[in-house]
Amino acid sequence: MKNVPAANSAPPAICFDQELIERYDGRGPRYTSYPTALQFSERLGEAEYRANALNSNAGGAPLSLYVHIPFCHSLCYYCGCNKIVTRNQARVERYMEMLHKEIRMQSELFDRSRQTRQLHFGGGTPTYLDNDQMDELMAALRTAFNFDESDEREFSIEVDPRTVDADGIRYLTDLGFNRLSLGIQDFDPTVQEAVNRMQSYEEVSRLVNEARAANFKSISFDLIYGLPHQNVASFDTTLDRVIGLRPDRLAVYNYAHLPERFKGQRMINADDIPPPSTKLDILHHTIDRLSESGYLYIGMDHFALPEDDLVLARGDGTLQRNFQGYSTHGECDLIGLGVSSISSIGNVYAQNAVTTMEYETLIEDGHLPIKKGIAVDDDDLLRADVIQALMCYDRLDFGAFDAIHGTDFREYFKSELERMNPLAGDDLIELDAGGINITPKGRLLLRSIAMVFDRHMAEVDTDKRFSRAI
Ligand code: SF4
Repeated sequence: MKNVPAANSAPPAICFDQELIERYDGRGPRYTSYPTALQFSERLGEAEYRANALNSNAGGAPLSLYVHIPFCHSLCYYCGCNKIVTRNQARVERYMEMLHKEIRMQSELFDRSRQTRQLHFGGGTPTYLDNDQMDELMAALRTAFNFDESDEREFSIEVDPRTVDADGIRYLTDLGFNRLSLGIQDFDPTVQEAVNRMQSYEEVSRLVNEARAANFKSISFDLIYGLPHQNVASFDTTLDRVIGLRPDRLAVYNYAHLPERFKGQRMINADDIPPPSTKLDILHHTIDRLSESGYLYIGMDHFALPEDDLVLARGDGTLQRNFQGYSTHGECDLIGLGVSSISSIGNVYAQNAVTTMEYETLIEDGHLPIKKGIAVDDDDLLRADVIQALMCYDRLDFGAFDAIHGTDFREYFKSELERMNPLAGDDLIELDAGGINITPKGRLLLRSIAMVFDRHMAEVDTDKRFSRAI
């Protein structure tokens, strides 16, 4: 899962071709892992995870920690995350007690010499926790793991602007965080009201100024297009404000309306959702505005300024796709802590229980809360590297790949290469004797290209499991 072929330089341009997007944008995985979580099964459990984690110490890779805080104060109607909307502190305290136990159990598996270079708090709303809970959590993590305290560390937290003030931002710096990600979605009050998430531009602007003054290295915004009442003109006003605040990174997600899966979405009036043609226009306009403003397209949904670490990681070959989307530090083993979190250690993926009740019961009984996962086989490892290369670097070099894996790529993936011919015919890729290059038109259809190498696709009902990419 870590053998990414040679990197290249800055990301190339993208070309928005509406006809191709409409034709190719089917349903498919986002490839935050390969195999995807749909292939995880209970055949991989705690015993296999423990053995694999202990074995990984021989390699001594540095560590990346993901900590899931599932609680939120109120429900944003569009949300598809694993979250619990509650004001019940007793419930929060029980979860935190079990999370502390899990941290201690996990840390016993990993050599102290392995530095934690990357830390990410996600949710839910990590800033739901009060200062005492946050202090205790960070102290527990620092005791259990060997934190890199240098400037090289990448400690990030998802911040709900409605839960943090200027003092809160300074407090996060004191805890050691040096990156933050703000959930913006849209600044338009009509849209905000329709999705039950009211937050003003002024409060976000104050937080951004405070974060810059506190020397946060990177500020990231999340936006969503396809929400009720959005149109090109209204989203353009949001983009004006976003570009004015100059976040280092932007993730611009497509809203997938799946009310049969996500109960909260039933609160959204389907008639208020823009039609697919308007969504495409909003996306097209967003890409133009961000490109004109100096942002580079990293890949699926993600943009960054040229000096951002995501762009630099693409240059030095350490860019990866993981459960947070695109990320740096591809060399790390990832430990997922908290309900539903996923670990990726060596060639094993393991996911924690997805309900807090099961998560807490397993820990209370002295178990790691792992419910399912997969040990990646040799064939999947090859495919994972192909998919990483295409999604992170827009290129796969046959010679470099064969040198790493001892394969004959063209022979091994003969049928996949044949299936790529139509993609080459439509100018989504260039296929030559040296490798596969994704063209500017293909960069917006990465997952449709990557899916050619996914041998598990036939096992999955794509209409039921996936939303459209765009
Ligand atoms: S979008 Fe974030 S804050 Fe809103 S309900 Fe979902 S997890 Fe909670």
